[in-house]
Amino acid sequence: MHIKKQRLLTPGPTPLYPKALYAMLGSDLHHRTDDFRGVYKSVLADLKELMGTANDVLVLVASGTGAMEASVTNCFSPGDKVIVCSAGKFGERWGEITKAYGLNVVLLEKPYGQTVSAAEVEKALAANPDVKGVFVQASETSTGASHDVRAMGEAIKKTQAIFVVDAITGLGTQPLDIDGWGLDIVIGGSQKAFMVPPGIAFLSISAKAWALAETAKLPKFYFNLKKEKKNAASGESSWTPATSLMLGMAEALKYIKTLGMDKLIDNAQQLARATRAACAALGLELFSPDSPSGSVTAVKAPAGLDSGVIVKDFKSRFGSIIANGQGSMKGQIFRIAHLGYFDFPDLFAMVAELELILKANGVPVKLGSGVAAVEQAYVEIAIAQKETVNA
Ligand SMILES: *Cc1c(COP(=O)(O)O)cnc(C)c1O
Repeated sequence: MHIKKQRLLTPGPTPLYPKALYAMLGSDLHHRTDDFRGVYKSVLADLKELMGTANDVLVLVASGTGAMEASVTNCFSPGDKVIVCSAGKFGERWGEITKAYGLNVVLLEKPYGQTVSAAEVEKALAANPDVKGVFVQASETSTGASHDVRAMGEAIKKTQAIFVVDAITGLGTQPLDIDGWGLDIVIGGSQKAFMVPPGIAFLSISAKAWALAETAKLPKFYFNLKKEKKNAASGESSWTPATSLMLGMAEALKYIKTLGMDKLIDNAQQLARATRAACAALGLELFSPDSPSGSVTAVKAPAGLDSGVIVKDFKSRFGSIIANGQGSMKGQIFRIAHLGYFDFPDLFAMVAELELILKANGVPVKLGSGVAAVEQAYVEIAIAQKETVNA
């Protein structure tokens, strides 16, 4: 075929909300003006509302990792003991950041595809009463697994430790009761379920985390949360903000508010469920079957076929960009994203493309069987729902 439309179908960056993209064209403005202060304040207020928390919410100019680093440098001191839960590439990143800043890390590590349990966290806390923080991913994007942050939060709440949750792909894909479950710091990023290009990170910070920040001795300068909080109160950022992205965020957040955060989560979960049904119909094995996330589904490549070939074929045959495995999973799994601006037609196409790619590579598949499973899932979970918001 000769025309191939490019489709960005990865778990970050994700497909852009068109009105957010258009809004970004209005970025020939100055940030120290009332117009921009209005945008800045609306983004902070809408994020707080959508995250459903009474805690402070701050925005940083960085990809998600910047907010991960900020949570470490602003709340801890050299040598502080912390627990890092690691079950994939992003869990390893918590390990790397905390070690880079000289924290004393108790590592709870699980093989890729599995999760660290709340019971293991509770046990580690009991054995290490001096622990000051616990780090985890709500959704581990590299494996498609989801941690039980609710149960972890219940255990951590009773201790002096703060709970730092990388929810960069968890927000908008799974319920997160930040205040009810004791999630002291919750981190998100613009390029995941929030439908905007990369470059903005944000985080909520509880009173317990602010109290720890008062004693923190690690050096910091650009990511100074206390300074950021003071400036945010008057609609300002400490440094020049990413004005274009803030305009995009303001528009995307308006859309998500109209839709409802619960519907955004349900949307991702429905697509994830339909994807799992398609995989079963195609005889494909899931990589994280025990605690699958709503953000992304990781699928094992059929025996003898490198997942890189599947990813490459998506691009060369159909112009679709999907994600390979990361790190040691490269070549073994491919990942189908559901977070943010994805809909059922995206999934019909993705699964049809997958069937054709498998067939072209000699994998016996019955064409249409995966798509039929997605259609059946649509019939079961969505056909009665008509009140979707068009954009
Ligand atoms: C995308 C992502 C990040 C942040 O990565 P950046 O490249 O810094 O945006 C962190 N954690 C998880 C779970 C992610 O999916």
